[in-house]
Amino acid sequence: MNFAKLGLIEPLLRTLQQLDYTTPTPVQAKAIPAVLAGRDLMAAAQTGTGKTAGFALPVLQRLALEGEKVAANSIRALVLVPTRELAEQVHNNVREYAENLPLSTYAVYGGVSINPQMMRLRRGVDLLVATPGRLLDLFRQNAVKFNQVQTLVLDEADRMLDLGFAEELQSVYAALPRKRQTLLFSATFSEQIRMLAGLALNDPLSIEVSPRNAAAASVKQWLVPVDKKRKADLFCHLLRKQRWTQVLVFAKTRNGVDQLVERLLAEGVNADGIHGDRPQATRQRALDTFKAREVQVLVATDVAARGLDIDDLPLVVNLDLPIVAEDYVHRIGRTGRAGNKGEAISLVCADEVQMLSAIEVLTRQTLARHEEPDFIPEHRVPMTDASGQVVKKPKKPKKPKENSAKRGLGRWMDSGEPEPAVKAVRKVPSFNGGPRKRKP
Ligand code: AMP
Repeated sequence: MNFAKLGLIEPLLRTLQQLDYTTPTPVQAKAIPAVLAGRDLMAAAQTGTGKTAGFALPVLQRLALEGEKVAANSIRALVLVPTRELAEQVHNNVREYAENLPLSTYAVYGGVSINPQMMRLRRGVDLLVATPGRLLDLFRQNAVKFNQVQTLVLDEADRMLDLGFAEELQSVYAALPRKRQTLLFSATFSEQIRMLAGLALNDPLSIEVSPRNAAAASVKQWLVPVDKKRKADLFCHLLRKQRWTQVLVFAKTRNGVDQLVERLLAEGVNADGIHGDRPQATRQRALDTFKAREVQVLVATDVAARGLDIDDLPLVVNLDLPIVAEDYVHRIGRTGRAGNKGEAISLVCADEVQMLSAIEVLTRQTLARHEEPDFIPEHRVPMTDASGQVVKKPKKPKKPKENSAKRGLGRWMDSGEPEPAVKAVRKVPSFNGGPRKRKP
């Protein structure tokens, strides 16, 4: 299979040759002809397997071959993404792919001055990448019009369709032309989102590059059980012992990010952090220096979980497990990209057992456990497996009271029969979504 067979035109084939893309990835092989044919799409493929080119190449081709010249303050294709860093990255990719085509591309997102964005939009833009909040600001100030939009892409579609973005997305939808092509791309789609998404699509083609809800198979995953209060100690210990060269760490809260960064800096480790409270310029600089390997450890909230493409990143560590199981797939998908190998390690405490179970159910695998000798937890992490069972340790029998026999408890105590196992087996739901904060 090669790109020419998929129906791409010569200027795009030339670009792909320059980029050294010789063979389409499975999601590209399926998505490109369908998008060129004008179909609506719901496409699921593992993290790091080339989804961006999967939608960007055919959308650019359609923009080059079809439709009217872009008018002032108008756009012809809109790509919505959940984070500012992702807007920047997707736009960089799109700009590269459009190099040999007479098309304009641009990105708008919050946290930076709106004026230059308004100025640039005056000339019109063929393909705009945007985060929803800033896009609506621009729309309400008449800086951008949607009447020429022929294609809408939701990248990280399940995140765009969940509650955090629902209101903004509704407002964007209401302003878009009804007759348009809509493309949804993500590595994860829950059944709930799948149904919701289907309603907004016209006779959609569903593309699924198996397995569903999974990071690339090239990511080796395991966990270390540990007490909650010793997680930072364990991370620092493993960093030194395993001589980790470059690691992306996910923490649950902004505070958790700051605390670990402070601790690492105090220990002489070159570390930086990304979360929603930090100014955009600082966030982008932290990411850029990490990508350039000038920073050894980048600690982040889930704001960095989705889509970011960090060349050859060898390792992701979950200092805390994510509350939403799907985010686990996205977090660890920052490693093992474009066919490379990667490793993902989760430091799990007893409180997180339900999250662990939900992750194992979603990804249909039981994570291997490796205990670290000096960090064996006092609070045991119950055993879990991919069926959603949490097996608590048999409880020790209570000391019988004198009159226990009268209450029927004395039979096995007195008779020498084995103690009946008090094995608590509980089903946990595979989908633990719910209202989420907008900016992690
Ligand atoms: P994405 O999943 O879109 O973020 O892409 C993951 C990585 O794979 C990026 O670094 C892309 O540049 C790269 N990539 C995408 N498609 C191809 C391809 N067909 N051949 C080689 N590399 C690719």
